[in-house]
Amino acid sequence: MLLGCIADDLTGATDLAIMLTRAGMRTLQVMQVPAATAKLDGYDAVVIALKTRTCPVAEAVELSLKSADALLALGAKQLFFKYCSTFDSTDQGNIGPVAEALLARVGGDLAIACPAFPTNKRTVYLGHLFVGDVPLAESPMKDHPLTPMRDSNLVRVLQRQVKAKVGFIPLTTVHRGPEAISEAFAQARARGERFVILDAITDKHLVGMGTAAADLPLITGGSGVALGLPANFVRKGLMKAADAPQTMTAPKGRMAILAGSCSEATRGQIKAAKAAGIPVYEIDALAIAAGKLDAAEIARWAAKQSASGPCLMYSSADPAVVKAVQDKLGREQAGALVEKMFADVATRLVTDGVTRLIVAGGETSGAVVNGLGITALEIGPEIDPGVPWTRASGRSLVLALKSGNFGAPDFFVKAWEKLTS
Ligand code: ADP
Repeated sequence: MLLGCIADDLTGATDLAIMLTRAGMRTLQVMQVPAATAKLDGYDAVVIALKTRTCPVAEAVELSLKSADALLALGAKQLFFKYCSTFDSTDQGNIGPVAEALLARVGGDLAIACPAFPTNKRTVYLGHLFVGDVPLAESPMKDHPLTPMRDSNLVRVLQRQVKAKVGFIPLTTVHRGPEAISEAFAQARARGERFVILDAITDKHLVGMGTAAADLPLITGGSGVALGLPANFVRKGLMKAADAPQTMTAPKGRMAILAGSCSEATRGQIKAAKAAGIPVYEIDALAIAAGKLDAAEIARWAAKQSASGPCLMYSSADPAVVKAVQDKLGREQAGALVEKMFADVATRLVTDGVTRLIVAGGETSGAVVNGLGITALEIGPEIDPGVPWTRASGRSLVLALKSGNFGAPDFFVKAWEKLTS
């Protein structure tokens, strides 16, 4: 294992895992702090998905250090602390305190900090983070319910969160490439700085800082900073250059789709699936609440469908229907009820021989993964940007977990083409 990554939330972990996979690293995403005895070898990178973005600082630090210990014990040569590309944090943390604790744990004297991700319109210039065309503090992030970002100057933002000195490397230096950036690292060390914010407005800048950071024990940033890291390990002869996987071998078995997302994108994908002749079962949330429908009945329907193609079970409904259900049951109760139903249905489907499963909806995916007791996912080929096939570690099961808004209209129809027997 070469790169050990700690992400402060689940979707951030997936972003990073996909980025590393695209660059040819065999990547495993783990859902919780792995036990010291966990079998995680055979991968170039392991990404631990924590949920520490807004939890109490002490808890975030403790979980991050536990993760670091597990990754280092597995042989990680470098640690990557991944946070959001909008630097979601408060003056108390959690980015600063976690980064500082990790730097101490790896015995490092300098770490970089850069949330830039130009593809997603996150750029850093003169130390100020821009979201699209506006500074962070003028973006919608200024009103975020948990981490309102009211200062765009990341040097100031990070300095309020750490005891150590925070420095800055401007675009004029970053633009000159890895050598100039390495020199700037030496100057930062000489000034007693332990963290440096780096400007970056293009992918080339991210690759440059990644290259310069080859020997730093800790890197912190958004997933963009990972662009330049895999090549470092190839140059050191620790990894072979590889292309991103185009297909994934999957166990023979039945195919199913579970959709609990009510997003426009998912509803469009359901429409396209129906048009393509995929058999569908519409799950009525009120019937579940009334005790008139249960997971066993839905699974029985699925078992009767042809095994040569997928079948689709969905609760997805348009906003008026969802509102009526929520008015009757309560918003959270309705959500929890439907999520539990999907978790139960998924368990039954897998028992009945489903080995290839697509789940639509972030919360729905979380419930299904928990229900199935899945703790680690190996990242495979991307079906559409941001949605890869994954293999559940130690199980005869591949899954595509789709955040509601993701994927082209034909997602449910074409996804299977990336699987081979
Ligand atoms: P997305 O990724 O689109 O946000 P999620 O799965 O995260 O999708 O969230 C959708 C939520 O809506 C889940 O809690 C799900 O249980 C709930 N839900 C799904 N179908 C219905 C429905 N028909 N009525 C009410 N709530 C629903």
